Amino acid sequence: MSYALTIEPLGQTIEIEEGQTILDAALRAGIYLPHACCHGLCATCKVQVADGEVEHGEASSFALMDFERDEGKCLACCAMPQSDLVIEAEIDEDPDAENLPVRDFEGVVTRIETLTPTIKGVWIRLDAPIRFQAGQYVNLELPGGIGSRAFSIASPPSANGEVELNIRIVPGGQGTTYVHEKMRAGERVRITGPYGRFFVKKSAHVPVLFMAGGSGLSSPRSMILDLLAEGFDRPITLVYGQRSRDELYYHDDFLALAEQHPNFRYVPALSHEPEASGWTGFRGFVHEAAKVAFDNDFRGHKAYLCGPPLMIEACISTLMQGRLFERDIYTEKFISAADAQQVRSPLFKAL
Ligand SMILES: Cc1cc2nc3c(=O)[nH]c(=O)nc-3n(C[C@H](O)[C@H](O)[C@H](O)COP(=O)(O)OP(=O)(O)OC[C@H]3O[C@@H](n4cnc5c(N)ncnc54)[C@H](O)[C@@H]3O)c2cc1C
Repeated sequence: MSYALTIEPLGQTIEIEEGQTILDAALRAGIYLPHACCHGLCATCKVQVADGEVEHGEASSFALMDFERDEGKCLACCAMPQSDLVIEAEIDEDPDAENLPVRDFEGVVTRIETLTPTIKGVWIRLDAPIRFQAGQYVNLELPGGIGSRAFSIASPPSANGEVELNIRIVPGGQGTTYVHEKMRAGERVRITGPYGRFFVKKSAHVPVLFMAGGSGLSSPRSMILDLLAEGFDRPITLVYGQRSRDELYYHDDFLALAEQHPNFRYVPALSHEPEASGWTGFRGFVHEAAKVAFDNDFRGHKAYLCGPPLMIEACISTLMQGRLFERDIYTEKFISAADAQQVRSPLFKAL
């Protein structure tokens, strides 16, 4: 059974199935509603129900309090229709958003490579090409009741028949352990996407700074390959942090890109590399490397931060000390449902 869902102030009416969340219906129709954790925990997706009835699903009582339910509010990531609905949402008009509809895809794993001791590269050839903006992510469905996990696409949109994911093993993590230990070439998989609002604001036409840590390199890699391929002519800098040299993947590729493109600068930073190793690059964390590389002055840039929450917090603080402010900083945190329950930075609204 399906219902009509009208989204104001757009005035657009779409179809929503019984048991489908408001957020899922909107994203599949190419309408972006702000959201973050997707588990009813963070309240980023709170909307007003102007008409109709919803079932609140797994919305937590902290993210959606009783008085808010009484006022007709709901969390779009969990709320499901019980009648035709009219909702009022904050729709953010972004000139750089392509608003590509979310779709389900099937494909086959063509190869799995060990990129570092903790990161596997997984290539999936899709039965039908996926349209996405560089920087976006997909949900990969994993077998055995594990469910789906989010992974950023590491390949550029031009290679849309085969997507590359770079997956870091999380100790004790069900999904990433499956990928590292059991997934094999030839396996059929399902992905859903594209998701996310993490993409380059090309229309601003200003210098771009990427700050990435760990497997947070995926989105920046896709974005950088995309920018360079289309001849983006402003300076592009990648500051990429890992613990040690053996964890630094695609290092030679980025060195080669910096040779070929005068507007691309690559600054690798190692935080725990042994002193005697002969590493001549920066030693320390990503935010420290960026501070030195930019002489603590980030004015005029747009910065894109991707990686674990602690790295992102440190980078935001460094950028702000260097005179770059919230409106020019974009983040993609690798949060899980468990992370989302922790206190979030008051400095930032998640994208
Ligand atoms: C938008 C987005 C994009 C992402 N892109 C990538 C990517 O490109 N590559 C990639 O490797 N990962 C990426 N992640 C993170 C990835 O989804 C998680 O690592 C994954 O969900 C962990 O799944 P799991 O089943 O192994 O762990 P789970 O079994 O779900 O969790 C086990 C435990 O590990 C903790 N945990 C979960 N994730 C992490 C983490 N990243 N670091 C430390 N502890 C964690 C949980 O809180 C929990 O306590 C992304 C996450 C998001 C939200």
